Amino acid sequence: MKAVMFFGPQEIKLVDVPRPEPGPGEVLVRIGAALTCGTDFKAYRQGHRVLLGDLPAPFGHELAGTIEAVGEGVTRFKTGMRVVAANSAPCDNCFYCARGQNQLCDNLRLHNGAYAEFNRVPAQIVKHNLYELPGSLDFKEGALAEPLACAIHGADVMNVQAGERVAIIGAGTMSLLLVQALADRGAKVLVIGRNPERLAVAKRAGAELTVAGDEKEVHAAVKAWADGVGPDCVFEAVGKSETWQQAIGLVRKGGRVCLFGGCAMGTRIPVDAHRVHYEQLHLQGVFHHTPKYNSQAVEHLARGKVKSELLISASIPLAEVPAYFARMHQQSNPKVAVIP
Ligand SMILES: [Zn+2]
Ligand SMILES: [Zn+2]
Repeated sequence: MKAVMFFGPQEIKLVDVPRPEPGPGEVLVRIGAALTCGTDFKAYRQGHRVLLGDLPAPFGHELAGTIEAVGEGVTRFKTGMRVVAANSAPCDNCFYCARGQNQLCDNLRLHNGAYAEFNRVPAQIVKHNLYELPGSLDFKEGALAEPLACAIHGADVMNVQAGERVAIIGAGTMSLLLVQALADRGAKVLVIGRNPERLAVAKRAGAELTVAGDEKEVHAAVKAWADGVGPDCVFEAVGKSETWQQAIGLVRKGGRVCLFGGCAMGTRIPVDAHRVHYEQLHLQGVFHHTPKYNSQAVEHLARGKVKSELLISASIPLAEVPAYFARMHQQSNPKVAVIP
C-alpha cells in the first residue's frame, strides 16, 4: 500500500509499504479521509519524539474510514463498518486511569499512520477509543472527532456555564472548535487573533465578537465586552509564553484560565503571584482527550453541531501530502482532508 512516512524534520515521503494484517484485537481500516493537524505541521518542522517515536514513522493521526478486516477476538466491529479512531487509548490499569484521568495515563501511546491507504488500529484503541460513524457524517466530518474531543475536554474541565463570558486567544482550528464547544454550552465567546480572515471565520463559527490589535487595545476591548471587569474564563489556544501571560492578565478577579495551547519544552513564564493569590485566579492546564470526550465528540458531530466546512478548506490526494507540507508548514490552518 501507499503511505506517507516521516523520515526526519521536513522530510516526508510517499512510499510503498506492506499492507498490514490485523493481529488479535486489532482492526484494519481503509482510510476514507485523514485531516491535517497543527500538531503534524509542528512535527514536520521540528520533529516530535512523543508523537512519532522511532523513525521512519507513520504520519498523520486524524482518520476515519471503513473496516477492511478484523483481527481475532474483535466482536464489536465488523468488516464494512464506517468508523473513526482516536489517536490514543488509555491502559485502564494505571494510577491515573484508576482516577479517571485517562489523558494522563502512564501508558498512553500516540498512534499515527492516517496518511496512508490503510491503518492498522491497535487493540487498545479498538477496545477503548474506536467509534462507529453515524450515517449522517462523512469521513471528513468524522475525522474531526479527535480535535473536537480536545475542545470539549477543555470546556468541561473549565466547567463553563451558560451565559458566562469566555475569551479565546488564537484563531486557529483548535480555537474554532473551542468556539463551537463553548457556544454549545451557552457561553458568550470572544476571539482574539491577528489574521482578519481567520477572525471572520471565528465569527461565522459562533463568536459574538472578535478583537485584534496591540495588547493594550485588546485588553480594553475585552474588558469592555466582559462587564467592564474581564472574562469569567480565558482560553489560551496558541501555545506561546507571551499569550500564556496575556491570558492570565486578561481574566477577571476570581476567573479561570485554561492553558490549552502546549508550549515547547523548557518554556518558562513569569506569573504575577500577588494577583494569583489576592485575586484568586484559577490556572488550569488541559491536555489531549479521553474516551469519554471522544464519544461526546462523535455525538456532537452527529447532531450537526459543528460547522465542518469552516474547518476543512480542501481535499488533496495522498500523493500530494509531501508537497503540501513543504509548501504550507509555516501556516497550519485551515485543515485539508487527505483522501487516499
Ligand atoms: Zn490532531
Ligand atoms: Zn493508564
